[in-house]
Amino acid sequence: MSSNRFDIIVVGAGIAGLTSALALQRDGARVAVLDRHRAGTEASWAGGGILCPLYAWRYPQPVLALAAEGMRRYPNLLASLDSNIDPERWVSGMEILDPVGEGETTELISATLASAGIAHQWRQQGDAHALWLPEVANVRNPYLLDALIDTLRARGINLYEQCAAEGLLLNAGRVTGVATSQGDLQAERVVITAGAWSEALIPGLPMGSLFPVRGQMLRLEPRPENALDRILMDDGVYLIPRRDGSVVVGSTVEYAGFDKTVDAEAQERLHAHACRLWPQLAGARITHRWAGLRPGSSDEIPLLGEHPSIAGLWTNTGGFRNGLAMAPATAELLADRMADRPTALDPTPYRLERLIDA
Ligand SMILES: Cc1cc2nc3c(=O)[nH]c(=O)nc-3n(C[C@H](O)[C@H](O)[C@H](O)COP(=O)(O)OP(=O)(O)OC[C@H]3O[C@@H](n4cnc5c(N)ncnc54)[C@H](O)[C@@H]3O)c2cc1C
Repeated sequence: MSSNRFDIIVVGAGIAGLTSALALQRDGARVAVLDRHRAGTEASWAGGGILCPLYAWRYPQPVLALAAEGMRRYPNLLASLDSNIDPERWVSGMEILDPVGEGETTELISATLASAGIAHQWRQQGDAHALWLPEVANVRNPYLLDALIDTLRARGINLYEQCAAEGLLLNAGRVTGVATSQGDLQAERVVITAGAWSEALIPGLPMGSLFPVRGQMLRLEPRPENALDRILMDDGVYLIPRRDGSVVVGSTVEYAGFDKTVDAEAQERLHAHACRLWPQLAGARITHRWAGLRPGSSDEIPLLGEHPSIAGLWTNTGGFRNGLAMAPATAELLADRMADRPTALDPTPYRLERLIDA
């Protein structure tokens, strides 16, 4: 390593770590990011890239607030990147068939979406309702990660790949750095953004506070005349159109530990559901199948703040199903908190104190 002393070390180079690093470096810090694999190859790569929660009204208010703020901030984030890679953000809109679940009403859904500033219209489909969200975009998240990594490099942020954090360096109740597979790195402050693997790096967190939630996906290439023009969602299954005409289908929600196996039965179910939703997909070539591990949290709310008893240890993790949508907002909230500036959103619901005693 060229130097082993930084202002801030960010542990984990997914969407949370990469966007946090950029926001913190912009504030003047000397930042290093480490990842035990290649940067941007876990959940943030595997995700669908829909920049809005699915069934947004079913999430805790603090999640909806972060996601809505993230949606608003995306155009600025993308415009600020130093890269020739186009993340292909596309405001395709999202249509949700039969959105009204048990105990829900169209009025409740409308009021929740309106409170978050998410535009929507109701459409009648026979006897059933459909919900149209015209401003929902999707990004090609692997391209977004590559563009973020380019930007990190262009701005001189140190990116250590194949470099695993093995423990924290602590002294008198403060973090002083990270013990890594490539040696010790010193820093005034450390931010844990290790996704589904974060729990082991946050002392005092009760077991089960953060955990992996597997999601399986597949990608199809329909004929150009069968291209889909919007995100289509029904009963938990979604179809995402990409600008090149391909369609990404997701996803399962499985509590199966740190296991990224793709299984034939779940894939068949997703495929069959997708073909019912968009019959033009029948016969389309399946080009990829994959799974990723979302960082779930016990109350579904991200952990964003400073550790209550280890000064200088911060976290930005637990994005669960909305980590891509929320990323520009979580990075700014973290940077504002670390700089002790006023925040756009109330930081209280995300604090670690709700899970860790001081
Ligand atoms: C199938 C699927 C579909 C999804 N669809 C969407 C969607 O449409 N919209 C949306 O908003 N969200 C979606 N999500 C959720 C979203 O992808 C995640 O919430 C988000 O990517 C989490 O980002 P992260 O940076 O916290 O984690 P990750 O991307 O997993 O990054 C964590 C990084 O930390 C590294 N790491 C772990 N341990 C260590 C260590 N000890 N030392 C160093 N590095 C370490 C890992 O290698 C990894 O690169 C989806 C997720 C999945 C799996």
